[in-house]
Amino acid sequence: MAFLVGCGASASEINVTSQQEYRDAVKSLQPGDTIVLADGEWRDFQILFTGEGTAERPITLTAETKGQVLITGQSNLRIAGKYLVVSGLVFKDGYSPTNTVIAFRRTKGELAYHSRVTEVVIDHFNNPERFEPDSWVMMYGRNNRFDHNHLEGKSNQGVTMAVRLDSVESQENHHRIDHNYFGPRPVLGSNGGETLRIGTSHYSLSNSSTVVEDNYFDRCNGEVEIISSKSGMNTFRGNLFYESRGTLTLRHGNGSVVENNVFLGNRVDHTGGIRVINKRQTIRNNYMFGLTGHRFGGALVIMNGVPNSPINRYHQVEDSVVENNSIIASDHIELAAGADSERSAPPISTRFSGNLIHNPDGADSITVHDDISGIEFSDNIVVGVTPPADTPGFESRSVELEKAENGLFYPVGIDIGAGRDLKILDRASTGVAWYPKPGPDSRFDTGKTIAVATGVGALSAAIEQANAGDILELSAGTHLAEQVLVVDKPISLKSANGASARIEFERTALFEIKDGGSLKISNLEISGASSMDVAGNTVIRTSRYSMLNNYVLQVDNMVVTDLDTNHSFNFFSLAKHTFADRIEISESEFRNITGHVLFMNKESEDLGIYNGEYVSIVDSKFANIEGTIADIYRGGTDESTFGPHFELRGSTLESVGHGKRNKSAASVALHGVQATSIHDNVFVDSKPIRIAETVGEPVTIVGENRFDGTEAPVIDTTLRP
Ligand code: CA
Repeated sequence: MAFLVGCGASASEINVTSQQEYRDAVKSLQPGDTIVLADGEWRDFQILFTGEGTAERPITLTAETKGQVLITGQSNLRIAGKYLVVSGLVFKDGYSPTNTVIAFRRTKGELAYHSRVTEVVIDHFNNPERFEPDSWVMMYGRNNRFDHNHLEGKSNQGVTMAVRLDSVESQENHHRIDHNYFGPRPVLGSNGGETLRIGTSHYSLSNSSTVVEDNYFDRCNGEVEIISSKSGMNTFRGNLFYESRGTLTLRHGNGSVVENNVFLGNRVDHTGGIRVINKRQTIRNNYMFGLTGHRFGGALVIMNGVPNSPINRYHQVEDSVVENNSIIASDHIELAAGADSERSAPPISTRFSGNLIHNPDGADSITVHDDISGIEFSDNIVVGVTPPADTPGFESRSVELEKAENGLFYPVGIDIGAGRDLKILDRASTGVAWYPKPGPDSRFDTGKTIAVATGVGALSAAIEQANAGDILELSAGTHLAEQVLVVDKPISLKSANGASARIEFERTALFEIKDGGSLKISNLEISGASSMDVAGNTVIRTSRYSMLNNYVLQVDNMVVTDLDTNHSFNFFSLAKHTFADRIEISESEFRNITGHVLFMNKESEDLGIYNGEYVSIVDSKFANIEGTIADIYRGGTDESTFGPHFELRGSTLESVGHGKRNKSAASVALHGVQATSIHDNVFVDSKPIRIAETVGEPVTIVGENRFDGTEAPVIDTTLRP
């Protein structure tokens, strides 16, 4: 251990190279001291950082070289004391054995005050069990700051970051959360995928007074709430929400301000803006562009409340202001949203003025769900949008937009909506400069093309050796897979140009998608004729264990036959706690199958968990299928997810669903799907479509189908709220 004399009278810089040296050093820290962790990997390191610095002479824990100190394995960080600063660490390749990676406390009674975590990276530091919840950052105490950090890839259940108000010492906390990079958070497929939560309903009538400023939310898609404000007097300003599904929600608590934020949806599905609930909220000078979200996920949502609401339900919107916002090319503004027999208290004494709502393609983008006479509208301009009926305060006119130097669109010749001085947060200025930020998600066909001949073991060897994005081109003839083909990276398989390749397999499965894998198969024939004579085979299955990474399965121009060596032979089946971003079948043919085509019915505990976001079957043919072509189950009653989505279009089903083991007695069985579109299909001698609508406001479109020798669709709405 080396002691160097710093610039202060007694300040030391203490370099440590082992956990024992660290523990010794931390015992005797004085104001102004700095502990420096040596570069390299620190494995299984539960860091407890305590001390009492002063405002002028904080105590610091940092890295020899920022970004070169890797905290891995079973590790975490607890901070307790005063005027403590932590910087430069990278948490990766592991997860916290406790429920938090970075906690601003040691125990319930020993909290952090006036302390700061800055330039720290947490990258995919996830518990391997998807539904073992934890959080990456929990702020307790008061006057703490979390800034310039990089948080990317939270994939297991649990809010990425939370501010806790669970004791008096943590209320009125005046924390600052600023200049952080909140990187991509994939769709979780359940509640508990928020990126930032401030408070909980229990303490929501206490003030937090947290400032959330100049943060970049990049594709934060975990669930319907990107930010859930559940306490009073918070400020959200200058943040940028980039292609993030969900909204900034003022869920509980009063007196918060949301201003100068930019929401760029770029027409990505379910991108939303701000959802307003409670009293004395101010929403001003925000810019929303290209937001597609609807209902609670709209560009701007003002909710109805519950009369005399319990603390955990919806308090009436009252004494709030929505002014000078620009809402451009966005599909939905919802007023008095959520009105029903329980949420029957419409907004009162609220002002809505000086807003620009510009959407030449969106005449009906403002939806009024209840009495809005308690909102005073003035000086709003709508362009292409029909204003609420019998409501003054909207001027309909034609206004051109032009792009200003800051990259945002402003109306020509009139001053309305968000101010011209609004800045777009530069992604590079958030987080840290020394850790790369992720690019676009391009999974397939980015690598090299590999020719695969029909020899023994050739296919499995080729898949094993392939890199992410590679394309395997199979030669003409039959390829026999003697072992399960493990897909642990995105790969594509197809017939070589002009060739017609066929795959048979000898095990109970042909492909197994493991964590990190995605599969695209096209222009191939797959036959089950050589597979084992046991029940429950499947062509493609997921890992049998929990998967953190969402996968994609694409099936295009395929012929799949003779999955009938025994009963219950599925084309695709999955395990609990796995999740597909997309499953797409197009222009394919399926014949003679004793099980299901897509069997996605494993989360039976009704915990609100499901297994796939978008499932689509287009322009395909199914004949002699004993099970369903899709059996999708999403149980539970929470309203935290946008999916699952299901589409069936342009397809023919002949003799589907009659197997005695098909418990659903359906050709298509959907339970709790949020968006269903089934049209332009032909059903011949098949079991009916069976849909159970359960949670949320499911949108079910079933039309333009022909049913020969097939019962009409059965849509059960008795489970709807
Ligand atoms: Ca939630």
